[in-house]
Amino acid sequence: MKEVKKKISIFLMTLMLASTFSANVTKADVIESKNTFAYEEIMPYAAVCPRCGGRITSSTVWGSWISSGTVTCTHGHAWGTDLKQYRTGIKTTKCLNCNAGNTANVKETRTICHGYDN
Ligand SMILES: [Zn+2]
Ligand SMILES: [Zn+2]
Repeated sequence: MKEVKKKISIFLMTLMLASTFSANVTKADVIESKNTFAYEEIMPYAAVCPRCGGRITSSTVWGSWISSGTVTCTHGHAWGTDLKQYRTGIKTTKCLNCNAGNTANVKETRTICHGYDN
C-alpha cells in the first residue's frame, strides 16, 4: 500500500510539472507574436532588422509633382500667390541579411514661391 501511494504522488507531481511547463510555453508564444509586428510604422528609417538584427536599406521611387492649388504667399512678399504641389511614391524597405521587408505609400508636399514686391 505504501508503494502505491508513493507512485500516485510522483504521478501527481509529474502532472503539475507538465502543466507548469505548458503554461510557460504559452507565455513565450505571446511574447514572440508581439515581436513579429511590422516595423514600418515604428521606425521609417530603421537601420536594424527586428527579426535578425541585420542592416536595413530603404529606397523610394517618386512620381511626378502634381499641382494641388495656390495659397497667398507666406514668405513676406507684398503680392503673389504660391503654388502648392505634392507627389506620391512607393518606399521599399528591405533587410540586407534575411530579406524581410515591405513597401509603403509615401507622400511629399512642397510650395513654390511666386511672391513679388513690385
Ligand atoms: Zn533581417
Ligand atoms: Zn512665397
